Amino acid sequence: MNGRETREQGKCCAGTAFRNVRIFNGTDSRFLEGMQLLVEGNRISAVEGSGEELPPTFRVIDGKGHVLMPGLINSHFHMIGALSANRLNENTGKDYRGFLYAKALEMTLMQGVTTVRDAGGNDWGVVQAAAEGLFDAPRIFPSGALISQTGGHFDFRPRHIALNQTEHRGEIAIVLDGMSYLADSPGAVRKAARECLRQGATQVKIASGGGVISPGDPVLSVQFTPEEVRAAVEVARNWGTYVASHVYTAEAAVRDIECGVMSLEHANLMTAEAVRLGVDKGVWWSPQTVVYLHPPEDWNDMQRAKLAIVVEGLERTMELFRTYNARVLFGTDCFGNMDVQHLEFRYRSRFFPAIDILRQATSNGGEALRMSGPLYPCAGDLGVLKPGAMADLLLVRDNPLEDASILSDYGDQLLLIMKDGRIFKNLL
Ligand SMILES: [Zn+2]
Repeated sequence: MNGRETREQGKCCAGTAFRNVRIFNGTDSRFLEGMQLLVEGNRISAVEGSGEELPPTFRVIDGKGHVLMPGLINSHFHMIGALSANRLNENTGKDYRGFLYAKALEMTLMQGVTTVRDAGGNDWGVVQAAAEGLFDAPRIFPSGALISQTGGHFDFRPRHIALNQTEHRGEIAIVLDGMSYLADSPGAVRKAARECLRQGATQVKIASGGGVISPGDPVLSVQFTPEEVRAAVEVARNWGTYVASHVYTAEAAVRDIECGVMSLEHANLMTAEAVRLGVDKGVWWSPQTVVYLHPPEDWNDMQRAKLAIVVEGLERTMELFRTYNARVLFGTDCFGNMDVQHLEFRYRSRFFPAIDILRQATSNGGEALRMSGPLYPCAGDLGVLKPGAMADLLLVRDNPLEDASILSDYGDQLLLIMKDGRIFKNLL
């Protein structure tokens, strides 16, 4: 269904009522049965007994007994992932990359993801075009440039590139049209974080440890000093928002949690002490599986060797998250293999029961996004089906509470996709 049709339908109806559906509201492990859900404008206006009378101007959608659930939230997504990691340095041109990113976002929406937290490197023009509805895309919570130390995980410069071949603005080095900012002092980190927030970031993203795809760093390294991490946290807090950091090791995670970081990305190699500390401080853990268990084919030997190191901790860390009832988010982090993002449900099902995965991908994501405080851009909650929440919802053919991996078969399973009160897919 294209945008024009849905806008016309919007004009003719005062609202939409979903009837004959089993409702997973994003939190409860049991369906709400015998209810109807009403959408007015871009929000949910009521979840009420299905006998309630509707105004004649309402469009009624008969869900035929299928499952109505919140749209999915991918808390670790990168539009720059549309470029394979090994193409990040190619001089592809910003306009070409814009089209590539738009295509990736459109595909992501059609997989049922109605909101993404872009974990860094996003192009601002694409964020704006998506918000203006110039193409079909999920809502985007952008991080702006990735902030890294020189030689750190977000320093994607090939190793032969010298300092005098790098673009500098004062204390900050700029990588690839602003995909990353390299900052090597608390002052420089402050400047970089403020620059991201000025441009519209809803949270600040830093690299606090080594990475898999980056050419210049040991994967187990700790990056930034405590003073540099605290500088980013202070800048984010002053704006009412928070810092998300890329970490693999418990050493980096503990250091970051003590400095006030609230979202720990990946975190594959945790210890019980680190997870307990995170639980005490109320941080969110943002692990992924598909990027580690289904890596892109073009990764080189160095990247595969680094991958092997961090994959080893995945199972134990997921077990620790379950044991300590940690707050976990759903995400994919795909680079160069974005067409397999949907397989996250299948791989994650090895580690968590279905209800946990569904909460991670809906209400947990929505709750974490609220940490953006005054920068949170929506009038209502995300990831839940309740009055006042944003009208982002999916109608699913089978029962995801029984088996969350069915969401990997999005083409067949997703009968309807609504974002912001607009229908983007309807197989009914
Ligand atoms: Zn990432």
